[in-house]
Amino acid sequence: MSDMIGKCALITGGSRGIGAAAARLLAAAGCNIAFSYVSDTAAATALTSDLEAMGVKARAVKADMGTEDGMLAFFQSVDQAFGAPDYVINNAGITGAITKVAELDTAELRRVVDVNVFGAMLCCREAVKRLSTAHGGRGGAIVNLSSAAVRLGSPNEFVHYAMSKGAIDSLTLGLAREVAQEGIRVNAVAPGLIETDIHASAGAPDRLERLGPGVPIGRAGTAEETAEAIRWLLSDAASYVTGAILPVTGGR
Ligand code: NAP
Repeated sequence: MSDMIGKCALITGGSRGIGAAAARLLAAAGCNIAFSYVSDTAAATALTSDLEAMGVKARAVKADMGTEDGMLAFFQSVDQAFGAPDYVINNAGITGAITKVAELDTAELRRVVDVNVFGAMLCCREAVKRLSTAHGGRGGAIVNLSSAAVRLGSPNEFVHYAMSKGAIDSLTLGLAREVAQEGIRVNAVAPGLIETDIHASAGAPDRLERLGPGVPIGRAGTAEETAEAIRWLLSDAASYVTGAILPVTGGR
């Protein structure tokens, strides 16, 4: 029997892509789902209906994960609907437009850092306050979304994005060690080329077709394949795994 039945997962940026795939996978395991999104209400509404049809409770919250107000509003909404979560997937992330560093727009850089770094750190802070046994919580697990970009550096595309994901790796390692005796495991998945809308949003809808064949496995990965790694890291099967950064890259 699934160890996730009746548990609650909080997912930042869950309306599409990897977050939505994780929501479906955890719901299939019996987990109630709360997710945030920022703009695509149609996708959020459709996913909520799908999750409820799977027999779990689902709540979509429109809130900007790149602001403190948005992050606090999301967590407070989940507090009211479900109480403290058991699992937190720190997933909301953006690349910004493809650019060389010399042409990087300041506002774009700030937005990427706000969502990917500031938001991720605030999400972990709010998660620890609710999950930590030192704060009266019952423990739980956090998975942060890193990227293969940390190792590749993403030259000529988005060095600023790679930099922001480097912060996720430090956050994962440091927080994992800080709360290891407070009932919380903290891990990250580092996806490579994954089939989601993020590439089109960056201005390169053909990116997967161009780069997929060069991946050692010979293709881009799917959001579902990435969600499987997230699910495992959250599950009791990974009970001795913390501070790990798991590549989901097809060998890239
Ligand atoms: P995606 O398809 O673009 O979906 C992004 C999701 O995050 C959407 O649900 C979006 O909501 C939400 N979101 C974005 N900014 C937000 C904000 N400020 N506040 C609240 N929600 C926000 O992205 P993805 O490919 O699934 O990426 C998910 C994570 O994996 C990101 O952290 C990304 O950096 C990481 N990653 C992805 C890849 C890849 O190849 N796909 C590779 C490495 C790492 P709306 O629907 O409302 O826009």
